[in-house]
Amino acid sequence: MARTFFVGGNWKCNGTSDDVKKIVGVLNGAEVPPEDVVEVVVSPPYVFLPLVKSLLRSDFGVAAQNCWVRKGGAFTGEISVEMLVNLNIPWVILGHSERRLLLNESNECYIWNIQLLCFSLQFVGDKVAYALSQGLKVIACVGETLEQRESGSTMAVVAAQTKAIAERVLNWDNIVLAYEPVWAIGTGKVATPAQAQEVHTELRKWLHENTGPEVAASVRIIYGGSVNGKNCKELAAQPDVDGFLVGGASLKPEFIDITRDRI
Ligand code: PGA
Repeated sequence: MARTFFVGGNWKCNGTSDDVKKIVGVLNGAEVPPEDVVEVVVSPPYVFLPLVKSLLRSDFGVAAQNCWVRKGGAFTGEISVEMLVNLNIPWVILGHSERRLLLNESNECYIWNIQLLCFSLQFVGDKVAYALSQGLKVIACVGETLEQRESGSTMAVVAAQTKAIAERVLNWDNIVLAYEPVWAIGTGKVATPAQAQEVHTELRKWLHENTGPEVAASVRIIYGGSVNGKNCKELAAQPDVDGFLVGGASLKPEFIDITRDRI
């Protein structure tokens, strides 16, 4: 089954409205492959979503970088799925390692958090399920730390993270799975094409065994972690690398080169 190549740009917590206008200007003027060859989605910080949505060409998608786990309400500081739907934002990134590690987002449900003296509501599987249920598409991130890789538990970690999603989701049509080894994010230390392919193959095998052959064949598994205009070609040549989630390089014109990799 042909899987449309996917290139996401995660702008993280960067930039001003002027920077955003500049980046969008570059994107709007770029010559990229048609949507059925490469799907391009950029993810600005929340406050710039309406600006980007209003300025960006329509063949590029827009993603939020997070959302609240259930229907909005008395959750100060959070942004609900309903708000994203209301703004016509089609995508959301969930389970990014920066949120898992810095903001305690976890696989499990309802963990009693001693420090905060409350139940943690930051669980990735439930967020994915709720976002999908309201019609959003999800870029769901998994990935191991350096310590976990060195102790040989890479596959156990990414399988557990994927399982937490699979347990709550029946239809995978609107999910892109992003394998992002934590040691490669923002470090300039990109995974080798063989390392990426190895985990992607294992993830596809896991999906085959746990969600069935159709899901395994159709879900796009993209790689993230220090992807740039130079290393993208070799990574993209791997049979199970279906695209990228790009951080640092997505703020630069070389993001276009990454989307053009398939021409
Ligand atoms: P990076 O980030 O490309 O800057 O390593 C990737 C990501 O965090 O999605």
